[in-house]
Amino acid sequence: MNKRARVLLLNAALGPLDYRVDREHEVEPGSIVLAPLGPRQLAGVVWEPERMPSDAEVGDNRLRPLAGVYDLPPLGAPLRRLIEWTADYYLAAPAAVLRMALASASALDGSRTIIEYRATGHVPPRLTPQRAQALERIGERQGLVRELATIADVSEGVIRGLVKAGAIEAVEVRVDDPFPVPDPAHAPPELSLEQHAAAAALADAVEKREFAPILLDGVTGSGKTEVYFEAVAAAIRSGRQTLVLLPEIALTEPFLKRFAARFGHVPVAWHSDLRQSQRRRAWRAIASGEALVTVGARSALFLPYRDLGLIVVDEAHETSFKQEDGVMYHARDVAVMRGAFEHIPVILASATPAIETRQMVAQGRYRELKLPGRYGPATMPDIEALDLIATPPPRGRWLAPKLVEALGQNLEKGEQSLLFLNRRGYAPLTLCRACGHRFQCPNCTAWMVEHRLVRRLQCHHCGHLMLPPAECPECKAEDSLVACGPGVERIADEVALLFPQARAAIVTSDTLWSPAKAAEFVNRMEGGEIDIVIGTQLVTKGYHFPNLTLVGVVDADLGLQGGDLRAAERSFQQIAQVAGRAGRGVKPGRVFIQTHEPGAPVIQALVSGDAESFYAAETEARRMAGAPPFGRYAGIIVSSEKLEEAVETARLIGRTAPNVEEMQVYGPAPAPLAMLRGRHRQRLLVHARRALDVQNVIRDWLGGLEWPRNVRVAVDVDPYSF
Ligand code: ADP
Ligand code: ZN
Repeated sequence: MNKRARVLLLNAALGPLDYRVDREHEVEPGSIVLAPLGPRQLAGVVWEPERMPSDAEVGDNRLRPLAGVYDLPPLGAPLRRLIEWTADYYLAAPAAVLRMALASASALDGSRTIIEYRATGHVPPRLTPQRAQALERIGERQGLVRELATIADVSEGVIRGLVKAGAIEAVEVRVDDPFPVPDPAHAPPELSLEQHAAAAALADAVEKREFAPILLDGVTGSGKTEVYFEAVAAAIRSGRQTLVLLPEIALTEPFLKRFAARFGHVPVAWHSDLRQSQRRRAWRAIASGEALVTVGARSALFLPYRDLGLIVVDEAHETSFKQEDGVMYHARDVAVMRGAFEHIPVILASATPAIETRQMVAQGRYRELKLPGRYGPATMPDIEALDLIATPPPRGRWLAPKLVEALGQNLEKGEQSLLFLNRRGYAPLTLCRACGHRFQCPNCTAWMVEHRLVRRLQCHHCGHLMLPPAECPECKAEDSLVACGPGVERIADEVALLFPQARAAIVTSDTLWSPAKAAEFVNRMEGGEIDIVIGTQLVTKGYHFPNLTLVGVVDADLGLQGGDLRAAERSFQQIAQVAGRAGRGVKPGRVFIQTHEPGAPVIQALVSGDAESFYAAETEARRMAGAPPFGRYAGIIVSSEKLEEAVETARLIGRTAPNVEEMQVYGPAPAPLAMLRGRHRQRLLVHARRALDVQNVIRDWLGGLEWPRNVRVAVDVDPYSF
């Protein structure tokens, strides 16, 4: 009898297939192999047949042989279990999860070099505007032709033309250069007594090599990073790998710097902005075990660490850990599952832990370590609410007199200030004064947002761009367009008007779109080149600027609109985090929160510093409503380019909802974004008791239905917002 192997191929549309293993090949579960599929060959991973049923049973004599086995360590059993769990829990195709582990088949390629391209400094004889733009944007950077084209925002043809013209040259880059080993003894801090106790407990958990979810709950500036660094040091000493997950790639660069100051070398970085050569080098070092510490965005969670000893989820409350397309998983939850499969501790660090996490602590399922005070002389900032109804800003302005006065004082003292408004662009809505016409995205249920700096209207959901028209497209009135409400650019205008001498910087995903840009911002802040930062949620997290002593929250009510389940919690977290940027050094900090509703529980909790009663009330409300973490939701999103098809399918799903006790189905109704990227979206919401295996119910239910080819049905298990 021939040996057979079941292989999960990197193709989400396919189930696992069986192959013949010829004598020259050695495989075991986890082996990474190359298998024929039709005329092509595809990478895949050998799986235990009993754990991955195949629906295409093929007789021994008709099996095709495996084409090859990669010279790479097999995926370990803990990672295979994690892939199965993720696929099962989030109702995703196992191959789609596997794809995240293998990162991109390019990482599997064994060659030791990659050809990249970079500018030579020669100006080509024919310098078209596109060529000029490409050379300017590429600057000193290098990468594949495709990567340079993306950086320069030109076609690959333009880059190839520049290669021919001698303005860009090929260079060979090694992808197997070793990574330096971080040194736990490089510069350990003097820990305070409280910090020391927490750090010792964490290091102890690492040495024990047991599953242990731990909430590291410390106020902003209490030194959580320094403390969990001691756990990382313990892992390095025992030769085991650590993964640190960050919510935002913009935070990677400051983290690398900080890590290098403590351990002498930077860790291995993993995020979507890596070049292919960097990606391949990092992936192989992670798989071989050489990369002792990896810091990354959520996608780093599924990588094949050879010997993982510790996972840290920093800013664990952050909403960006929830992936909203493809496999819709929550990285915080998956991190804890990985910890369980690997038998290792998982540290969730946060100053404002999610209610879900607090509940796990309350039930005794997670351990909690607390750091109640800021480190050193730094104290918690003073927080004051500014009532926008009692003392409004002047007409057409957004900053209340008291905040303006404080900004002026800070400027005089040479201290830095931060204005927080979670709205990119100049104004969230543009309309015609004459006829009331509003500019809407043609592809989405969303307004076009004015970005005055680049003179465009932009849709924040699909990226659709429009030039601001000279006349109203509806009534043809000229110069009749007015901006409604403020975005960060408008606040920057107001700051420029009030303080022409101040050096202001806008910080949003428009300006900080790469780790390099983020590093530049940090350097300018640290160098004292910026007086006033005006930023979105991007500036609320992680940063540590000792000379930043004033924070103004421009519109604290913004997050409470829409009224979804988590609105109050999210508002509290966001404002507490941004307030936490103030007064982190020797100088004390002040925070002003502008609001129309100073009596709202969120504002009261922030001003009084009494987070506990706020959380207690929120938790109780959730319990009463059977909302997470006491009950669970799943969204079923039905989308199609044709409204009718979406509605029909959603109705079909609604009609066939199984009658299960402890489960309700609401809808269908238009989804919160009823149209997105040209697709009409309908939604059903499933609400169930915690104990119900709702995935199984949904799998059976949807599995028995059919819908038109163009209709997409996606299930969002534990949706973040709805
Ligand atoms: P958190 O992550 O809790 O907001 P950080 O870890 O960023 O706090 O610490 C705040 C600041 O205090 C950082 O600049 C950090 O380097 C410093 N710090 C914290 N603990 C110590 C310590 N034990 N020794 C020296 N500096 C410390
Ligand atoms: Zn759009």
